[in-house]
Amino acid sequence: MIEIRDVKKLYSGMATPALAGVSLEIERGEFVFLVGPSGAGKSTLIKLIFCEQKPSSGSVYFWGKNTSSFKEAELLKHRRRMGMVFQDFRLLKQKTVFENVAFALEVVGKSPKVIREKVPAALEKVGLAGKEKSFPMELSGGEQQRVGIARAIVKDPLIILADEPTGNLDRDNSRQLMDLFARINEGGTTVIIATHAYDVVDRMKKRVVALEAGQLIRDEQRGSYDDEY
Ligand code: ADP
Repeated sequence: MIEIRDVKKLYSGMATPALAGVSLEIERGEFVFLVGPSGAGKSTLIKLIFCEQKPSSGSVYFWGKNTSSFKEAELLKHRRRMGMVFQDFRLLKQKTVFENVAFALEVVGKSPKVIREKVPAALEKVGLAGKEKSFPMELSGGEQQRVGIARAIVKDPLIILADEPTGNLDRDNSRQLMDLFARINEGGTTVIIATHAYDVVDRMKKRVVALEAGQLIRDEQRGSYDDEY
């Protein structure tokens, strides 16, 4: 579904590339961890898949189509197929849990009827039924991230892209959230997660793509965070 072919990414003003010739393929329905030290290029890879950044050379194909050739309408369509989850949750503080999730549908023009059906279903899936009227500040970090995940899945995305989704959470919450991602993946959604949470990665036995200084150094099915395990 996604093919990344010999992608290099050099940000302007930077001497060393963020990605220095990375190739990989991700099939529909896969669960992929992107691991590696800070600055390895994980976020950049996620941004390239989301088409928030363009490669300096090489190509990112989505179902055989070069994403660099996407016109504005295709770009919007592409992004609508993706659900993004962020380390810092990025919830709207003045909106309730329901409104935060509903907002993702409002901006793509969904009707109030669709919103009334889909938002409670998404909140139910992430274990937040009953919290609709709460504000983000009234929730724990783990719960706030569940709202972030509900907001991502409510659009029925093809792909969930998560950049350090458990970076602000303790170990127990991290595990529970990764289990939630796994359940979402079992429903057919492709899941791509950049993470430092090595204990969680090792426990899950999913595909692990390891980056270091912009290079892909390992790509393993049922992998672990470090290859010495
Ligand atoms: P990771 O997610 O693995 O921490 P990143 O993809 O964020 O890595 O960063 C890879 C490299 O690219 C780092 O050296 C970082 O400083 C640089 N970088 C990332 N984003 C930008 C940007 N917008 N402008 C300039 N350099 C950037």
